[in-house]
Amino acid sequence: MKHSLLILISCFLVVGCASNKEIIQIPILFNDERVALTKEYLQQRYGLEQEAPEIIPRMIVLHWTAIPSLKKSFEAFNRPTLPNWRPDIESVSGLNVSAHFLVDQDGTIYQLMPENIMARHVIGLNHCAIGIENVGGTDDMPLTKKQLAANIYLVKQLASKYPIEYVIGHHEYTHFENHPLWLEVDDGYRTTKTDPGADFTNKVRQANKKFNFKPVPSK
Ligand SMILES: [Zn+2]
Repeated sequence: MKHSLLILISCFLVVGCASNKEIIQIPILFNDERVALTKEYLQQRYGLEQEAPEIIPRMIVLHWTAIPSLKKSFEAFNRPTLPNWRPDIESVSGLNVSAHFLVDQDGTIYQLMPENIMARHVIGLNHCAIGIENVGGTDDMPLTKKQLAANIYLVKQLASKYPIEYVIGHHEYTHFENHPLWLEVDDGYRTTKTDPGADFTNKVRQANKKFNFKPVPSK
């Protein structure tokens, strides 16, 4: 009897831990320059004049960094301006890329910036999209099962907190070109993306199907 009670308590503890995964805060530099560049991005790319560079999340975009370590991935996002950016080249924003979350290969979730502040991670949709980056993604370092589980967990948490309508892989972003959420003003500003792939993205969506996310528009 005592033994089975112990097993029961242990099960609750394991389930309890699994449903309350720690999210470690490692904020990227968000100084006055980054705030100004983010507001400028919202204005120039989307025509949105805002007092603060805030967003109401309606979408989650999954990514991989293609960078082989947490430290180097963090460093890539930390500086406010793009490397090699020249302020004299107008029309191209100097705001550095970033994401709200960064998931290491071991499944540890790090938060880089508040969910309601705009990060530059997906053309056309940054004004409404939370970004989740995953360390790795190359042939030498594919995404792991622990990362998949962490992404599933994080999407569940975020979809419980915000009116999330879509969960997409970065490789799907151009499907939104004719969607009301698409605000990029320049028809020539596009990049080709393959991250994080259909398999990973579908598994994250499938595990969270209770939220009834809308299907990605067809092209
Ligand atoms: Zn990406």
